[in-house]
Amino acid sequence: MGGTFDPIHHGHLVAAEEARYALSLEQVLFVPAGRPWQKERHVAPAEERYQMTVLATKDNPAFEVSRTEIDRDGPTYTVDTLRELHAATPGAELFFITGADAILEILSWKDPDEAMELATFVAVTRPGYPLGKLPSRQIVVLEIPALAISSTDIRARVAEGRPIRYLVPDAVAAHIRARDLYRA
Ligand code: ATP
Ligand code: MG
Repeated sequence: MGGTFDPIHHGHLVAAEEARYALSLEQVLFVPAGRPWQKERHVAPAEERYQMTVLATKDNPAFEVSRTEIDRDGPTYTVDTLRELHAATPGAELFFITGADAILEILSWKDPDEAMELATFVAVTRPGYPLGKLPSRQIVVLEIPALAISSTDIRARVAEGRPIRYLVPDAVAAHIRARDLYRA
């Protein structure tokens, strides 16, 4: 499961757990993006996003976090990550889990055809993002319980001093507080 995870929240975790169950996945690997080339805004340091992702996933034995994109130089491309995972785990069947909004961007990615050969793409539903004009390729659509949570809203809440409790895992909220993240 790829994302910026700035910060990781319960929407991401529910999506990952639903995909794990629905597709009988052995493991869900969270891959925080290094330098997301599509994002114009300031993004929290990769190390902070990585640490929050580790904190959020540590009590689920099926969840792991990868450093591959944050340790890679240059912009983040999903196809590079899939190539690397494919080489590192020969024989493993790969799925790329992503939200409805991200899947709509797939056609603008680097080497989308190769990416879709390396992995089955799984689009989880997300409130506010209709799946209407999905590219007619081999994409698995997964209906998940609607959680209208976004990292954008969480960052705004922190900046304004509003609560984020129950929107993110407690350990993530504690990390945001301790590291003074998102305080404008
Ligand atoms: P931002 O608001 O900064 O864009 P975000 O909440 O969209 O952050 P990302 O890290 O960009 O989080 O998302 C990673 C993936 O998780 C994306 O594919 C996104 O569609 C999906 N996702 C994020 N929030 C939800 C949610 N509440 N329900 C389902 N999928 C989600
Ligand atoms: Mg997003």
